[in-house]
Amino acid sequence: MNFFDDDKLHEECGVFGVFLNNPEQNAASFVYYGLFSLQHRGQESAGIAALSDEYLEVQVHKGMGLVGENFTPEILAALKGSSALGHVRYSTSGASCPENAQPFVSRFKLGSIAVAHNGNLTNADVVRELLEDAGIGFSSSSDSEVIVNLIAKNYKKGLEKALTDTIKFIKGSYALVILTNEVLVGARDPNGIRPLCLGKIGNDENGKQGGWILSSESCAIEAAGGAYVRDIEPGEVVIINREQVLSFSFSEKTRRAVCSFEYVYFARPDSVIDGIDVYSSRIRAGEILGKEFAVAADLVIGVPDSGVPAAIGYGRATNTPFGMGIVKNKYVGRTFIAPGQTERERAVSLKHFAIRSEVNGRRIVLIDDSIVRGTTSRHLVSLLRNAGAREVHIRICSPPVRFPCYFGIDTPHRKDLISNVNSADALCKSLGADSLAFISVKGLLESIDASCDTDNPGNCGYCLGCFTGEYPIAVSYKSDEAV
Ligand code: SF4
Repeated sequence: MNFFDDDKLHEECGVFGVFLNNPEQNAASFVYYGLFSLQHRGQESAGIAALSDEYLEVQVHKGMGLVGENFTPEILAALKGSSALGHVRYSTSGASCPENAQPFVSRFKLGSIAVAHNGNLTNADVVRELLEDAGIGFSSSSDSEVIVNLIAKNYKKGLEKALTDTIKFIKGSYALVILTNEVLVGARDPNGIRPLCLGKIGNDENGKQGGWILSSESCAIEAAGGAYVRDIEPGEVVIINREQVLSFSFSEKTRRAVCSFEYVYFARPDSVIDGIDVYSSRIRAGEILGKEFAVAADLVIGVPDSGVPAAIGYGRATNTPFGMGIVKNKYVGRTFIAPGQTERERAVSLKHFAIRSEVNGRRIVLIDDSIVRGTTSRHLVSLLRNAGAREVHIRICSPPVRFPCYFGIDTPHRKDLISNVNSADALCKSLGADSLAFISVKGLLESIDASCDTDNPGNCGYCLGCFTGEYPIAVSYKSDEAV
């Protein structure tokens, strides 16, 4: 893990698939551009699988590290074929190692299949045991490998049946992109917890429509030269071939519960998820925070990068001037050697710097997206005070994170979630701030969708599990998650 992001929740993965109508074109290079734009969703490994039109076999290249570190023009050229999919990974389920890098590929007598998965299967252990009992071997500890093996096992029933049988069997959160010898498939779990959207590639010089894209986020569709069409619905499967895009619903029990943290932090601000513009929702969150917890101040600053839109919104709502105040060192990251525990506090100081001329003698409102362990907030308060700030008031545009996520987001144990083990007053004191306030659950919902009935949060269509402990899918607490 990137040591400097230790104080954040982490998105698990990004998925991207391309089906081109022109068999002469190379889909892997489109996927490469798409994965670059999804890099924020996973930096530990990257991979692309492509279906060779000539040999009707899926080839894969994957490895540890960033997209740019894994692919050269030669590697992309060798991944021949007009359909391909890719994956970027941050490990939550299964260790961080080359064996767990995706896409997973299975070659069997009826063909080959590649799967890229974002999410977390809550019944992966049960499915794995059943498959192992049936003599099917695994090459990784990832929950995602059970999906590819389950589809391969059911493939003799026909693709559509194999897909529906597999999808009905697995439980949890999933945005899936699947490549077979014939088609590209996208599927989203019945709650739509993790995002997945459909894009279109424009017409070629002969007026023929170029092809289709499936992506975790709309920002990556544009980067690959396509245009966003729509989101895949919860419980929907789309099957793309040269003739058409087929769609069917595999579950009647759909109840939308999109991860609300996608809007707070995970997604890129230029993405649109389920019709809602992420940047605008962050601005609204800041405005609502300003209405809920205004404080007299001379300057509002956002913790770069994700706190900045909310700081703009807060400034608008409270007539507080918005300024920079803190800058981020863009060059610390994966290459930094994680120090021992005793050096962690000191190492945090490498990431952010205060602009003394902006904060000296002023009362500051500091806006951040979330507080997980508290290390970053504590450091930022002392940074601002050392630069001469008279007062530091922290405002957070998500409610306190008190519970773990079971749906593909890496969360510390409950004992390490600082809002779970402290009252707001004790937390404020421990961070060294003059005041501390979090947006309410209602306020968060309103920032995402102003039309939702915030008096009935469970009916608004968003997962709030890590804030409220109420999850859209039944989960079982593990003993090590007790406080
Ligand atoms: S528990 Fe939190 S992080 Fe996990 S899916 Fe729900 S809202 Fe998102």
